[in-house]
Amino acid sequence: MLARSNSIRVLPAKRVCTNPKPFHPPIRIPFASSPSNARFQSGRPRYGNYGRRSSRFDPDAARRARPLLTIDQVGRVADHGGTKVIGVVVVVGGVVFYYSHQEIVPVSGRQRFNCFSDESVEGEGALMYKKIMMEYQGAILPDWDRRSKMVHRVMSRLIPASEMEHVDWEVHVIDSPEMNAFVIPGGKVFVFSGILPIAKTDDGLGAILGHEIAHNLARHAAESMSSMVLLEPVRWIFISLDVMGITGGLGRILGDIALNFGLMRPASRKQESEADYIGLMMMSKACYEPSAAVGVWQRMEKAQAVEVPAWLSTHPTNASRIEKIQEWLPKAEMAREESGCAATSLQARAFADVLGGWRGFGEMH
Ligand SMILES: [Zn+2]
Repeated sequence: MLARSNSIRVLPAKRVCTNPKPFHPPIRIPFASSPSNARFQSGRPRYGNYGRRSSRFDPDAARRARPLLTIDQVGRVADHGGTKVIGVVVVVGGVVFYYSHQEIVPVSGRQRFNCFSDESVEGEGALMYKKIMMEYQGAILPDWDRRSKMVHRVMSRLIPASEMEHVDWEVHVIDSPEMNAFVIPGGKVFVFSGILPIAKTDDGLGAILGHEIAHNLARHAAESMSSMVLLEPVRWIFISLDVMGITGGLGRILGDIALNFGLMRPASRKQESEADYIGLMMMSKACYEPSAAVGVWQRMEKAQAVEVPAWLSTHPTNASRIEKIQEWLPKAEMAREESGCAATSLQARAFADVLGGWRGFGEMH
């Protein structure tokens, strides 16, 4: 996504592992729900203030709480021979699973863990698509609108360059001042008309839509879902510390904060930067002028009143985006020159064949 808020990013993958958690715009797969802390506020379950289960966290009550499990009990279970065997099997199985689901991101060449199939992520995308269409039902611009025409025109050049013609692309332009655009799994693209003044030209829009298509090409949604599979056991360790009374009920909260700021946000910024890189190469390959991407981020910078510090944000700052894009520009210009600026899909395809597809662009540095 482009705007810092309401960002959605998604990509297909192949399902192999656990059930994906449903995600909703903005795509942030939530940690699974956990037992209410209210249960641990006394030695017995307490479900029912005013007839319903309370989930309000009370640190004092949590400190006074008698743990459901003591450290001694946990130690005895851990010392049991059967537990050790199970532990070794789980750890070895986890390592094998992790290394057997490694893959290389197209274009950028980054290695990552992904255990979700394209089909499973696209299934999630289909549900999300219905919800978004219902939400913006009355605001979707008709195809004859000049803003829709602009978006369709740029998409028709980017799709052959992305080599994702097999995807069932659908583009909707939403009449809204919001400066955003996003794509959901299965190739459904939404562009808010408020971002068109930021794009300014077809070249600028090529940068924006190239970035969105790049999220799909790199299957970032599947990667995010996969990372949740890895992080969930870590989260349960924090919850266990709460249950044992070691962290006084704060383990889950502090653990979530640590995982969010220590791992999830940096990973999200990495994906954003990768989408910038892939999108830049894609727009160049589609014969758009890559330097237009710099103008887009400069205009975005002006339009955004408050800049969130990088470490707090799921997106890189505009300044660091511009800096990286300028670094990549020579490579992008080269890609554009080598493409011969072929505007038709036939020519773009012929070019891809000659260069061996995306491999011709080398890796992201
Ligand atoms: Zn993005």
